[in-house]
Amino acid sequence: MSLLELDGVRKTFGAHTVLRHVDLAVDEGECVVLIGASGSGKSTILRCINLLEEVDDGVVTFAGRDITDPRVDVDKVRAQMGVVFQAYNLFPHMSVLDNVTLAPVRVHKHDRAEARDAAMGMLERVGLAHKAKARPDDLSGGQQQRVAIARALVNSPRLMLLDEVTSALDPELVGEVLDLLGELKQEGVTMILNTHEMGFARSVADQVCFLDGGQIVERGAPEQVLDHSENPRLQQFLSRLL
Ligand code: ADP
Ligand code: MG
Repeated sequence: MSLLELDGVRKTFGAHTVLRHVDLAVDEGECVVLIGASGSGKSTILRCINLLEEVDDGVVTFAGRDITDPRVDVDKVRAQMGVVFQAYNLFPHMSVLDNVTLAPVRVHKHDRAEARDAAMGMLERVGLAHKAKARPDDLSGGQQQRVAIARALVNSPRLMLLDEVTSALDPELVGEVLDLLGELKQEGVTMILNTHEMGFARSVADQVCFLDGGQIVERGAPEQVLDHSENPRLQQFLSRLL
């Protein structure tokens, strides 16, 4: 069984059906890239997986459990997922180190000294140990996103969900964040990410899924989806990125 499985997931907002019938299987160690036009439902998929949204129909199975079952402990499920959003998710009034230490201490009730050690280790991992005492505002956007990734990783999540983590960055800062994600993939981190960075999808993804109107209409290996699809909607989407 896959680490994560979505079966027939439907999500509506009022009269608006945002996800129609989404099936997705993500294996341990896999990197899945979701692509598609703005409004196609990419973020909503991540939010349903993270239980920030309740699905209207269908099942999400994570680590062998149906997490759409109302009896599940949402916090416990979320604790096994690391989430990074587009931007601005660090607390500006706290040091970089405190940002990475916060959840292990508050949410996971880890010992403060141990949590700080783990946080320092993770900051080293993302190349930012020397910025531990700095405030987020003193870092570049790329460095801030690397801290956000460190913060998401520090609890050893089984799955990372990354929603357009480079979209708000100046172009010259995108590479350092994508390089880090590529390294994490090499280390076996399981990830689902929404991105418009097709070069990254090509070189790192195991599976690329193209969403259109709340459905995954094309999926497969990157070269298959990005180079050999005859779906006109996908071709139109890709040509607009150039
Ligand atoms: P993407 O991430 O691919 O740009 P989203 O998943 O954010 O797309 O959104 C898909 C659709 O769902 C859009 O039409 C958006 O307006 C709508 N939507 C998302 N969140 C909400 C919400 N909380 N309430 C109402 N509509 C929403
Ligand atoms: Mg989105």
